[in-house]
Amino acid sequence: MAYADLHIHSNYSPDGTAGIETILDKTRKNTDLSIIAITDHDEIEGALLAEKLAPAYGLSVVTGSEVSTAEGHLLALFIRERVPAGMSLIDTLHHVESLGGLCIAPHPAARFTSSLSFASIEKALESPVGQRVLAGVEAFNAGIFRSRSNGKAMHFALNHDIALCANSDAHVTGMIGKAATCFKGNSIADLYRALVNRETYIYRTYSLTTGYIAASWLHDKLLMSQRPDPSLPAVS
Ligand SMILES: [Zn+2]
Ligand SMILES: [Zn+2]
Repeated sequence: MAYADLHIHSNYSPDGTAGIETILDKTRKNTDLSIIAITDHDEIEGALLAEKLAPAYGLSVVTGSEVSTAEGHLLALFIRERVPAGMSLIDTLHHVESLGGLCIAPHPAARFTSSLSFASIEKALESPVGQRVLAGVEAFNAGIFRSRSNGKAMHFALNHDIALCANSDAHVTGMIGKAATCFKGNSIADLYRALVNRETYIYRTYSLTTGYIAASWLHDKLLMSQRPDPSLPAVS
């Protein structure tokens, strides 16, 4: 059994705080995760960099992105290029399939962020492309303001043919691994298989308080503005 956190933002997201090397370092030091996915908003560069650097930290990285579809956020995993924002959920699923990826519906029906409705997810799951590509749903998302939607998401996940996932949606390093998806094996191929076969488990569902997350976000953002991150590409 191994643990994966498949929803982490770096400073390649406008609302992320940590550089890729910091994320890898903190994950190795503070968690027992063997796999993380970097899923920046409509971005892939941070994930590609993390994949390249990960072996030095004894970690594996799933390259992904949190895509802003016209119907709400969608995690696209196992992809190596950016997915255009603004397409319908079904068109986005087709696009991700053409790139060889799988998708997870993050924080369904959550307040204060662009989220897929249960009706959209259900409709997608009734389509052939949805059955092939929309492999999982976050039955638990450790982000703030999720207590109400998490209960509904768990109920939805248990009543549909879809893999149960728990992810941190970390925007600060202190949140990485506070929720994790458990699967048999240890490799990225094992994780891929477990998602396709709906054999993932929610192992941990720790949530931090809104105050803690807000304070660390401000703290990390301030640090970031004072100290240029060497992991960011040079602006030319
Ligand atoms: Zn989101
Ligand atoms: Zn997110």
